Amino acid sequence: MKLLYPFAKRFIAGQTLEDASRQVLNLHNLGFKIALNLVGESAENQEEIKIAQKQYLKALKLFSTRNVSLSIKPSLLGLNNSKEDCLEYLTPIVEQAKLSEQTIRFDMEDSTTTDSTIELCQRLNQRVPNVIGVALQANLYRTEDDLKSLKSEDISVRLVKGAYKENKVIAFMHMRDIRENFLKLAHLLSNYKGNEDAVATHDEILLDSLIESDRYQNIQFEFLFGVRRDLQQKFNKKHSVGIYLPYGKNWLPYTIRRLSEWKNIKFIAKNLIKEKL
Ligand code: FAD
Repeated sequence: MKLLYPFAKRFIAGQTLEDASRQVLNLHNLGFKIALNLVGESAENQEEIKIAQKQYLKALKLFSTRNVSLSIKPSLLGLNNSKEDCLEYLTPIVEQAKLSEQTIRFDMEDSTTTDSTIELCQRLNQRVPNVIGVALQANLYRTEDDLKSLKSEDISVRLVKGAYKENKVIAFMHMRDIRENFLKLAHLLSNYKGNEDAVATHDEILLDSLIESDRYQNIQFEFLFGVRRDLQQKFNKKHSVGIYLPYGKNWLPYTIRRLSEWKNIKFIAKNLIKEKL
């Protein structure tokens, strides 16, 4: 595990909120917005849920600025145990965010949780309007309907390709089709004038196609911390750019997911040496 930590440091802000605040400051100074995420997998018990809830409340108090939003994985707040309990754990976080005029977005996990994540989002939005948003995955056939339904309730959307392996009965399998659907959905998203909507990808084919059009002026471009920093800087000159910034002690699974997406391992090694991580 220790061996992988130098790799992890490229993708996460550190293990504590204090570590995260150093990166938040750096990124702010560079003009980026930040979506702070506590890394972790599905909570096993109430104790783990309460720890995550406390971390998020603490983060909102520490960074009470509109430029820092939270990205929350609902399973970390117990979605896989009980949707009703999860709703109750999330409510004080959403209320606190409303007070400090911050926003919260749910990460979207695998397709077994899509319905419940969207339902949570809608119910929380009814309790505390204009705080909550959600990521939607372009690899799923259902996403166009989900997007229309969420936007009809003015809920903000972050469009991503989708990180989970899904069955061909419900999802596009080929990159060409996922890209095509991503562009179609981004176009659809740009019809709504919500200024919290975002497209989140490092795919230059998609990004090049999006920046050719003026439609995306109100849409935020989001990147993962440590991934394609060249593109982050390039887009930051002309667009609103958000960086998804994970932190936390449970950094290993997140790091492994990022490393598995990184096809050029030599490039990492070279950068690790260059950047003295
Ligand atoms: P890819 O085709 O995978 O990558 C395009 C290029 O980007 C690659 O060729 C490479 O140059 C570079 N690149 C990509 N990944 C890496 C990496 N790890 N290291 C180095 N270079 C890399 N998925 C979900 O399922 N649910 C979510 O809630 C979710 N939230 C996200 C939030 C943000 C802000 C972002 C940026 C992504 C999120 N994802 C989420 C992940 C997303 O679904 C994709 O799995 C991920 O972004 C990789 O796809 P890509 O669009 O970047 O294209």
